[in-house]
Amino acid sequence: MTMAEAGSFAERVKQQADIVRIVGEYVRLRKAGQNFVGLCPFHQEKTPSFAVHPVRQMYHCFGCGASGDVFKFVMELEKSSFPEAVRAVAEKCGIPVPRRADQSPENRRENQQRSALIDMHRQAAVFFAKQLHEGAEGKVAFAYLEDRGLNRDALVRFGLGFAPSSGDALLRQLKPKYSEKLLEASGLFSRDPSGRLYDRFRRRVMFPIWNESGKVIAFGGRAMGDDMPKYMNSPETPIYSKSGVLYHLDKAKEVLRKSDFGILVEGYMDAIAVARAGIANVIASCGTSLAEQQIKLLGRYTRRVVVNYDPDTAGQAATERSLALLLEKEFDVRVLALPGGADPDKFLKEQGAEAYKKLLAEAPQYLDYLIARARRMDRSTAAGKVAALNYLMPYVQRLPNRLLRSEWATRIASELRVEEPVLRESLRRAAVERRSEVKPKSELLAPAVKPAERRLIQMLVEAESFRKKLALEIGSSSLHRGLETEKIMEVLLANAEKPPDAAAIAADLEEKDQRILFEALFEASIEHTWEEAESCLEFLRGRQIARELSELDKQLHLQPSKEELIRLLARKDELRRVLSQQKHAVKSAAGG
Ligand SMILES: [Zn+2]
Repeated sequence: MTMAEAGSFAERVKQQADIVRIVGEYVRLRKAGQNFVGLCPFHQEKTPSFAVHPVRQMYHCFGCGASGDVFKFVMELEKSSFPEAVRAVAEKCGIPVPRRADQSPENRRENQQRSALIDMHRQAAVFFAKQLHEGAEGKVAFAYLEDRGLNRDALVRFGLGFAPSSGDALLRQLKPKYSEKLLEASGLFSRDPSGRLYDRFRRRVMFPIWNESGKVIAFGGRAMGDDMPKYMNSPETPIYSKSGVLYHLDKAKEVLRKSDFGILVEGYMDAIAVARAGIANVIASCGTSLAEQQIKLLGRYTRRVVVNYDPDTAGQAATERSLALLLEKEFDVRVLALPGGADPDKFLKEQGAEAYKKLLAEAPQYLDYLIARARRMDRSTAAGKVAALNYLMPYVQRLPNRLLRSEWATRIASELRVEEPVLRESLRRAAVERRSEVKPKSELLAPAVKPAERRLIQMLVEAESFRKKLALEIGSSSLHRGLETEKIMEVLLANAEKPPDAAAIAADLEEKDQRILFEALFEASIEHTWEEAESCLEFLRGRQIARELSELDKQLHLQPSKEELIRLLARKDELRRVLSQQKHAVKSAAGG
C-alpha cells in the first residue's frame, strides 16, 4: 500500500482532513472522552467498539481490529485504490486536486470511463425529463403519472422522465459525443441481431437511480400499459451494481442517521410515495431479495429498520430470506404489513399519511409478526404444534445473540401454549444452537501485553522531549527482545528520529501487532514523564533478568563442566543481586 509520503499531496490532504468528519459521513459517531465512538462499519455489531481519535487522526475497532488513517478508511469502505481515496478525501475537504500524472494507464482509463458514463447518465436523465415535460409522446406518460397521483412537483423532485418509443431517440442525442464502446458499456443501449445499437428503454416511464452521493448511475423503466416486462432496469455496468444500491439513499441518509431508523420498501413508486408523505428516511431495495451488500450499506446509517414489503405475496421466499438476513446481521427488524396486502403507494393514496404513520409506529418485531402467523396455524394436534415450531425455529436460530435466542424460545413456548416437556426441551435445545454462526477471529484476540509495554509504546510515539533517549535505552540493551510487543518496538525504535506516523508504522506490522499498537495508542494518555519511562524500563530490565535466570537454570540442569558451572552460578548470583537491588529501588521510590 502506498503511504502518504512527506511533502506529498497525500500528506497535505491528510493534515488538513478531519478524520472525525470524514468517518462521520459513513458512521454515526458520538463523543466519548477524547475519542469518538460508533458502530464499526467493517463488522456487524450492536454495541460500539469502533473508535476515532481526532488528535492522532486514526481509527481503530476493538472488535474486529480494523484500523488505520483516513485514507485506509475510505479505501476499505469504498473499495477504492489509494489515489482514489486521496482524491475523495481531498474533494470532501475542498482541497483542489492536481492532475495526476502518476496513475497507472489502466487506472486512468477506468476512471475516465467511469466519469464518462456518469456524465452520459446525467445527460440521459435530462433528456428523459425533457421528453416527459415537453415531448409529444410524453404527454401521455405525464397524464398516466398524474393519474397515479404524481404531480409536476413530484416528477421534478424525483427526476422522472420518459423514454420515447422510436428506438433511437437517446442514441441520436449521445452518439456524437461518445464512442460506440462507451455507449455500449453504459447499459442504455442494446444491439439488434445485425449489430446495430438501439435504445434499451422504449415507451417507458424512467426513474433515475442515484448512488449514495446523488449521481445518476442507472435507470429503472416502467412500462406504460401492458408492455412486458413491467419493470426493466439498467444492466450491471462499470458504475452500477444492483446489489450495491439502495434507491433514495442519497436523499434519505441524513434522516436515517438522525432518526436512527429506516423504512425499507420494494420499489421506486413505494419509496416516492412514502417520501412524499413526509417520511424521508425511506429506501427501496428494488425487489424483495435484499443483497448482503445492500444490508451493509444500510448498516452504515442505521441498524433499525421497518420492512414494508408485503410478506404474503408471490415473492415470499425472497422476502423471508431478506428478513432473515437482516436478523442475522443484528438489525432490529420490524414488519409493517399493510391491511389487505396493499403496497405503500396504494395504501397512502387511499388512507393517507397519518394512517400510514400510525401503522408504522405500531409495526411489530419481526418474530412477533411470525408468531402471530404461527398462531393462525392449526395447533390442535401435536403434529400441528411441531409444524408451527418448525416454522418459527429457523428464524430464531438465525439470531446471532444467544440470550435473545433463548428469550424468544421462551416467548414462543408460551405464545403457542407449548406445554409438553418434550417439545419445550427440543425448542430450548434448538435455540441454544445457532446456524451459520460467525466465529470470532481467535487470532485477533488481544494477547497479554503488560501495561509497561503499552506505556512505552505510547511514549515512543508521543513523548516529544525524550523519545530518542528512550529508544536508545531500549535499543542499546535490547530490552524489547522476547516481549509480546517486540516487533512493534522494533519498528518504533527504527522510527524514533522524528514524530512517527502511527498509520504508516502499522502498515509494516502484522494484523495482531497493528491491533496492539492501536489499542495502546487509544488508551487515554496522561502527561508522559521520564520518571515513568524509567520505571517502565526497570520493569523490562526485570523481565530480561528473569528470562536470563530461567535460561541459566536450564543450562544448569544440563550437567555443565565444572568451569562452566562456576561461571553459570556466578552469573546467577550477579543477576539475583541486580534484581533485588532493583526491587529495593522500586520499593523505596514507591515509599518516598
Ligand atoms: Zn470492527
